[in-house]
Amino acid sequence: MKFIRFIQENRSEPKIGWIYNDFVGEIEGNLFGEYRRLEATIPIENVRLLAPILPGKIVAVGWNYIDHAKEFDRAIPEYPTIFLKPPSTIIGTGEAIVLPEVSERVEHEAELAIVIGKRAKSVIPENAFFHVFGYTVANDITARDLQMKDETFTRGKGFDTFCPIGPWIETDFEPADAVVTCRVNTELRQMASTRDMIFPIPAIIAYISSIMTLMPGDMILTGTPAGTSPIYAGNVIETQIEGIGQLVNPVTKPNRSVPY
Ligand code: MG
Repeated sequence: MKFIRFIQENRSEPKIGWIYNDFVGEIEGNLFGEYRRLEATIPIENVRLLAPILPGKIVAVGWNYIDHAKEFDRAIPEYPTIFLKPPSTIIGTGEAIVLPEVSERVEHEAELAIVIGKRAKSVIPENAFFHVFGYTVANDITARDLQMKDETFTRGKGFDTFCPIGPWIETDFEPADAVVTCRVNTELRQMASTRDMIFPIPAIIAYISSIMTLMPGDMILTGTPAGTSPIYAGNVIETQIEGIGQLVNPVTKPNRSVPY
């Protein structure tokens, strides 16, 4: 099933919904608890899709594909490298990635994102999928120069608009061998299968939940394959995962300079 957040024409309140064929139905209740699907009668072209979830926290895994670690001269990690992206980085499909003026090199990182559905604390890998609600497409936008310059990833990964996700959460998805691609102005830049992850999803969930409790609605970015490259104002970034869908985001300069 495909779950969305959306705004209907002429109404400003964001709603939770589901998609049936090309129609949208509203959802009453709590997506991670009791909910009821209402009839899908709204043509999808009559709604604007928003980021499908506003996560409580976003935990990201770095260097999780061998080829990506190699292109940055990194050793194959012995355990997952994790970092946090603030929830204020979230945007949906169609929304613009804004390039911060303080960076000279912003790059795309196409990634499979996990949406947690049930509270997870110290779970074993065998039970990890019990805690997964579904999956979405993400792009871990990165100010590469700042990431490399700073002691932590917080600034390089943390600018507003640096986490496009969507277009929906897919619950019927098999994550073991799905093709992840990223195109910039239709030119293919990244293409790999999720089977090439160094740490597969059960290991990632077990590791992160041994450190911090994962709550319903939290999101995990599972790392990017090789081929990350700079993006510029005027580019259009298409991030796609086989079996989920495609996320499309234009890139823009900020409207005004920031005074520091
Ligand atoms: Mg990443």
